Amino acid sequence: MQRRPVNVLIVGGGFGGRYAAKRLAYRLPPGSRLTLLDRNDYLLYTPMLTEVAGGSVSADHIKAPNVSLPRRVEVIKDELQSADLATRTVTLASGRTISADHIVFALGSVTNYRHVEGAQEHSLSMKTLQDAQGARRMTQENVRRASAATSADERKRLLSFVVAGGGYTGVETIAALNDLATDTAAQVGISSRELQVTLIEPAKRLMAEMPEALATYGQERLSKDGIRVRTGIGVAKVEQDSLTLTNGETLDAGLFVWDTGIVPNPVIDSFACKKGEKGGIAVDSTFRVPEHRGVWAIGDCAEIPKPYASGSFFEPTAQNAIREGAHVADNILAYIAGRSLKPFVYKQIGELAVLSRYGGVANVYGVQVRGLLAWLMWRAIYVVKMIGMRQRLGILWDWIRLQFGRQYVPA
Ligand SMILES: Cc1cc2nc3c(=O)[nH]c(=O)nc-3n(C[C@H](O)[C@H](O)[C@H](O)COP(=O)(O)OP(=O)(O)OC[C@H]3O[C@@H](n4cnc5c(N)ncnc54)[C@H](O)[C@@H]3O)c2cc1C
Repeated sequence: MQRRPVNVLIVGGGFGGRYAAKRLAYRLPPGSRLTLLDRNDYLLYTPMLTEVAGGSVSADHIKAPNVSLPRRVEVIKDELQSADLATRTVTLASGRTISADHIVFALGSVTNYRHVEGAQEHSLSMKTLQDAQGARRMTQENVRRASAATSADERKRLLSFVVAGGGYTGVETIAALNDLATDTAAQVGISSRELQVTLIEPAKRLMAEMPEALATYGQERLSKDGIRVRTGIGVAKVEQDSLTLTNGETLDAGLFVWDTGIVPNPVIDSFACKKGEKGGIAVDSTFRVPEHRGVWAIGDCAEIPKPYASGSFFEPTAQNAIREGAHVADNILAYIAGRSLKPFVYKQIGELAVLSRYGGVANVYGVQVRGLLAWLMWRAIYVVKMIGMRQRLGILWDWIRLQFGRQYVPA
């Protein structure tokens, strides 16, 4: 291996960036520099965001702090403003500039508002900790305010909860908010029959990622829990406290969550490189940005071709991003040692979704599981995968308090 020290910068410390940093920490030539830049000082464990929204897990317990990374990783908390790919130099919000021999962009994604009028202004999304905490606070506040409302219209509006988007995060969001609203309503003497909880999905069925039988089971389960599932219809316009569907119907929405997918982080729009069909940085299957030596991109902000399926790309999931992080690290090490790079090849293990208390669906290695067993699998897998023992124990404690003591975590 060539022993010349190198300077590697990873931009974005989410799933992809963190796993790239961990892999590189002890493998770079002596004297090398490894820097991780992120606007936050933690990795957000998104699979449990809806648990925070539902009040069953504390926000603190789904943050994996960057200080827990190996000491060889220099962590910088700052925001990327722009990047000159030709000179491999980034400019940060603080005014600082950093240049490197290799830069890995792992900047993630943002909510896709799909150009629907009013969607961004009048909805919450389910992407950040603030989104989840906001949804949780508002759900309980609205139910409590409804119990004191003086007009029937106001009471009806406050008790209306709508989620747009029936992918697995939309499904998990509506299930979590429904459980929280139902329990809060019982505490203030409101019948759960008064709650209007609606999930809207333009496709014919929910959870396109799941096999049809599991999606059908999931839909039936949500309906049994009192959630109105509207498939085959979209949202045309969103206003403060109400929305209009594509058939012209209007719905009250005291709380409205927009959860209809993602687009790559817009900060990459100004990068001088080719973008893919979905707007992500177009890379080859080794994660190289072809126009610029030493520039790499992974995760939700990149469009990575599947070498085994021409014309298709890796899905924007944490499951993929984690493996892409480790793989880009190996390719950087191969590059500096003069070895050939390997294309990224990975097939997702499966998908899981938690539906409500004691309900879930899972498709793991092609084995389909539903109900209590899927709910237990979801919990076991995601708590084990959470980064950090303190966080794992915290999550377990939060769940025990809720299951046995009916206590939600403090808002
Ligand atoms: C509610 C929810 C549930 C999910 N559940 C699952 C699941 O169960 N399984 C699964 O596989 N996937 C799941 N996902 C998808 C998964 O979270 C993403 O695919 C994954 O996080 C992508 O990893 P990444 O490294 O590309 O981006 P991210 O993990 O999003 O990391 C991007 C990082 O870049 C930082 N950043 C962004 N812009 C800047 C800037 N300008 N300057 C500095 N730093 C910046 C961010 O702070 C962030 O830390 C879920 C997503 C959501 C929203």
